[in-house]
Amino acid sequence: MANARREAADLQRLLAADHPGAELAAWDWSFYAEKVRAEKYAFDESQLRPYFELHRVLNDGVFYAATRLYGITFRERPDLPRYHPDTTVYEVLDTDGAPLALLIVDPYSRPSKRGGAWANAYVSQSGLRGTHPVIGLHLNVPPPPAGEPTLLTFDEVTTAFHEFGHNLHSLLSAVRYPRFAGTNVPRDFVEFPSQVNEMWATWPEVLANYAKHHQTGAPLPAELVAKITAAAKFNQGYATTEYLAAALLDQAWHRLTPAEVPEADGVLAFEAAALRRAGMDFAPVPPRYRSTYFNHIFAGGYSAGYYSYIWAEVLDADTVAWFKELYRAFRGGDPELQPLLDRRGLGGATPAAN
Ligand SMILES: [Zn+2]
Repeated sequence: MANARREAADLQRLLAADHPGAELAAWDWSFYAEKVRAEKYAFDESQLRPYFELHRVLNDGVFYAATRLYGITFRERPDLPRYHPDTTVYEVLDTDGAPLALLIVDPYSRPSKRGGAWANAYVSQSGLRGTHPVIGLHLNVPPPPAGEPTLLTFDEVTTAFHEFGHNLHSLLSAVRYPRFAGTNVPRDFVEFPSQVNEMWATWPEVLANYAKHHQTGAPLPAELVAKITAAAKFNQGYATTEYLAAALLDQAWHRLTPAEVPEADGVLAFEAAALRRAGMDFAPVPPRYRSTYFNHIFAGGYSAGYYSYIWAEVLDADTVAWFKELYRAFRGGDPELQPLLDRRGLGGATPAAN
């Protein structure tokens, strides 16, 4: 809330410059936040795309990180049947080369495909049935014009790492009963492997391996990487507050006994009181979902589980910190740049003779 109020003060100044005396309201937020973003964090997203060619992102980024972390390898299987020519089937091999899973990569949008990105398990791993996972990585990248490469946005890159995190959860599954295979875990945990896997998208060693200009092979410039990182911190007071307000509202509804549930005309009063009790009644930042259109509140298996998104992120952020600590504990400090410069003969200032 403190962060949201601080951001609101920034936006209020811009609003007052346009409309003296006006007070910031919820419907002003996106408009003025976009002005601040354009001023402080803007960079042309299209500058990034030449460095994010789809096959390189997959093979030298997503798969590369998994090979480095888990020792698994990927082999394309053009001989296997596919349900659509846009898809590619990979066999995933375990550290000892034994078959582990089949992965179908289905990156492009098409009229018959639903929107969004998701991971699917068509066959679950099971010791009981003796099955290996057959899983899908589904994105909705617009297909490029014929003969041109598929260049991704940074969002699409992150999404590929995220959905593949779900794939990892499925393909590294080692259980007897299919009921417990892969992503069949409590909702508290289901987004954890996928969110953690996003960390590798910007992990320097992984990024350097895949983010290369599709024509020149040049690495992604460091100043663009810095801009991606800075932009991720923008407007987070708002985003976190509106999310938490909805999560707390969800909890308030689920704590009622049947006798306490208000009549339809008491819904908004209950909502206002619940937000006030939680200290989240700040008019410019209403809950992300109000009670009357809260899709994740009762239906779809959520049932008081809307908090799980940020809980997964708590686990995720803590795990990323753990990885970094592991490295520090092993090395006794942060990595030094000099050894790499020395290895590449770039350590000294003296230019080569020829
Ligand atoms: Zn997910």
